[in-house]
Amino acid sequence: MSVIDLRSDTVTQPTAAMLEAMTRAATGDDVYGEDPTVNQLEAELARRLGFAAALFVPTGTMSNLLGLLAHCERGDEYIVGQQAHTYKYEGGGAAVLGSIQPQPLEVQADGSLDLADVAAAIKPDDFHFARTRLLALENTMQGKVLPLEYLARARAFTREHGLALHLDGARLYNAAVKLGVDAQEITRHFDSVSVCLSKGLGAPVGSVLCGSVELIGKARRLRKMVGGGMRQAGLLAAAGLYALDNNVQRLADDHANAQWLADGLVKAGYAVEPVQTNMVYVQMGDRAEAFKAFAAERGIRLSAAGRLRMVTHMDVDRAGIEQVIAAFVEFSRN
Ligand SMILES: *Cc1c(COP(=O)(O)O)cnc(C)c1O
Repeated sequence: MSVIDLRSDTVTQPTAAMLEAMTRAATGDDVYGEDPTVNQLEAELARRLGFAAALFVPTGTMSNLLGLLAHCERGDEYIVGQQAHTYKYEGGGAAVLGSIQPQPLEVQADGSLDLADVAAAIKPDDFHFARTRLLALENTMQGKVLPLEYLARARAFTREHGLALHLDGARLYNAAVKLGVDAQEITRHFDSVSVCLSKGLGAPVGSVLCGSVELIGKARRLRKMVGGGMRQAGLLAAAGLYALDNNVQRLADDHANAQWLADGLVKAGYAVEPVQTNMVYVQMGDRAEAFKAFAAERGIRLSAAGRLRMVTHMDVDRAGIEQVIAAFVEFSRN
């Protein structure tokens, strides 16, 4: 029985073509700056997203951490969503490793932070307070795409208040594909952007931080400090380049599959949140554990949560989605 794993879009396996691109990669020691494939990936993503420089790192967590540390000094503060990855899901790294204080704010229904809330959270220039330096947004945020008009307002707002603006764009390309725009329409509003290659894009490992030459220079020093300086990393960068060339537009298939799944579950009587990209949230209440076990017997891997998140990706096709819908239908009859 082949397994349908909807826990995350991180579970994808590299395809034969991607593995072949990896074995063909020219490599060198990237700590010496001598890995041509890493250099190519960094240059390529910087170019695509409209930045002067970029840095290849093992994970999105490290990419965000280096971004925060490069923007903020010890005793500074970043404003961030209460439910944002850079606040909630990165082990408190900015505080632990950077002595940077987070100021979390409630995320709005559309995935944005209310700029009036942000304004109210900015600390006055007074020695009682941490120095507010940065606003960190996330796009997509729990599968939701931030409106371009909001990003323009956030840019103007941060300029007015002298804050830097960072994007956790782990799923930047899901947002761009959903909006049908070039990714630069999103990234042009930010001082730094972190992109994951290992989510929907299907690479086994890797994220890239983009920013100015100065910011990326700082991030490169910090990457060494936290142990992220890799050697013949071109093997991994080649998978990232392959993903950028082949797996961006196909994210639309994942979005269509997520919508198909949501429609099927609504028909079966489940409470499903509106779908924008590749995430489906369904209310399972106290049946979550039981359904997880029920689904597992049918070769479907899920998380157990009252608000169950299912994430579509390249290793789940429409037939797989139909199997998942069938499991929900069968479960609701029991
Ligand atoms: C996955 C993810 C990251 C970081 O991912 P790693 O697992 O550390 O590579 C950062 N932000 C968001 C929104 C994510 O979904």
